[in-house]
Amino acid sequence: MPSVIVHYQEIALKGRNRPWFVERLVSNVRAATADLGVRKIRALMGRIEVQYESDDNWDEIRERLGRLPGIANFSKAVRTRCDFDVIVETVLAELANMQVESFRVTAQRADKRFPMTSPEIERQLGGRIKAAQGWRVDLERPALTVRVETLTDEAFCYLHKEPGAGGLPSGVSGRVACLLSGGIDSPVAAYRMVKRGCRVRLIHFHSYPILSHTSQDKVAEIADRLTRSQLDTRLYLVAFGDIQRQVVLAVPPPLRVVVYRRLMLRIAERIALASGALALVTGEAVGQVASQTLDNMAVIDSVASLPVLRPLVGMDKDEIVQEARRLGTYEVSIIPDEDCCTLFTPKHPATKARARQVDAAEQGLEVERLVEEAVTSAVRRDLSFPAKPASRVVA
Ligand code: ATP
Ligand code: MG
Repeated sequence: MPSVIVHYQEIALKGRNRPWFVERLVSNVRAATADLGVRKIRALMGRIEVQYESDDNWDEIRERLGRLPGIANFSKAVRTRCDFDVIVETVLAELANMQVESFRVTAQRADKRFPMTSPEIERQLGGRIKAAQGWRVDLERPALTVRVETLTDEAFCYLHKEPGAGGLPSGVSGRVACLLSGGIDSPVAAYRMVKRGCRVRLIHFHSYPILSHTSQDKVAEIADRLTRSQLDTRLYLVAFGDIQRQVVLAVPPPLRVVVYRRLMLRIAERIALASGALALVTGEAVGQVASQTLDNMAVIDSVASLPVLRPLVGMDKDEIVQEARRLGTYEVSIIPDEDCCTLFTPKHPATKARARQVDAAEQGLEVERLVEEAVTSAVRRDLSFPAKPASRVVA
């Protein structure tokens, strides 16, 4: 039965929390591969072994593990008894039909009771490979690295390392709620928090039926991508079109964007608190657009009691775009769409909103009623990966 050896890095550093972090990663790996013929998953001396039935599933397993936060790298491996002669035999059999320019052996001894040191394993196994295959040893730039890890009862041999997503396993850092537009930035912000081990609830404000359904479709697609990393996602769809109409009637144009954001934040906070989230997240970066100045951020944040996290705050647009491409959300984000804010957005929003001005402008709105109505009419959708039969839609 083939195995995958999963290595984690950052979580190895977490001291006394470590067993709990590893358990979390194990259960995430189990959930992510639930339908791929996985037989056994176990934590083993600083790594995780995944035993699966058939190599037919390897490509899909690779794809899924590659998206799972908390994994530094992983490899398809052959398991053997922890006995040098057996290891040599196994490795030579694996290499028999291969042809490479050069190679090296890299060994790691997890259980120090194994009678050979790592350099001894490397030298002796290297010598046997050289004799059998006639390949040149190149320690600096080998065409092939043969890796061996010896544990207590078993050893693992493998030839390729697949990069992992890094970060922390989903679920170890608590819940947050991300304000998710259909744009480029907020999906990246949400992903950054997923990667830090948070369960990220998503909250989207739409102007349907005043505008088309596109923003909700885009957000559903983005939520789907994020779910491939965090495995469970709760998406709230909040009707915001009527609220914007009211703002247009009551608030002078330059202050409207700040007032929209404050209303969004109030609504999002209410939903966040009800769902046990400890912070709000947005995709803002300082100075990216006129409304995202430090002055405006301060005035916006003042209506929330939860911390407002902005994981992209110091990033350039180019960097965000690159990350969105890697994440696979960019193509969805650029689908043309009338943003609920652009419809009602003035040409020249205030870049230095003053709290007193904004408070005064909001006097003409029934803020509490608008917030309450938006929260109670929000539609919740639960997504899972791999998809459970019939994703629930709950009003
Ligand atoms: P994005 O690409 O995330 O839309 P942006 O650069 O277009 O960001 P804005 O449109 O000013 O910036 O929005 C700033 C932040 O406010 C977004 O990153 C997002 O967190 C939140 N936001 C904006 N519009 C919405 C919306 N319709 N639903 C939910 N959150 C929103
Ligand atoms: Mg936007």
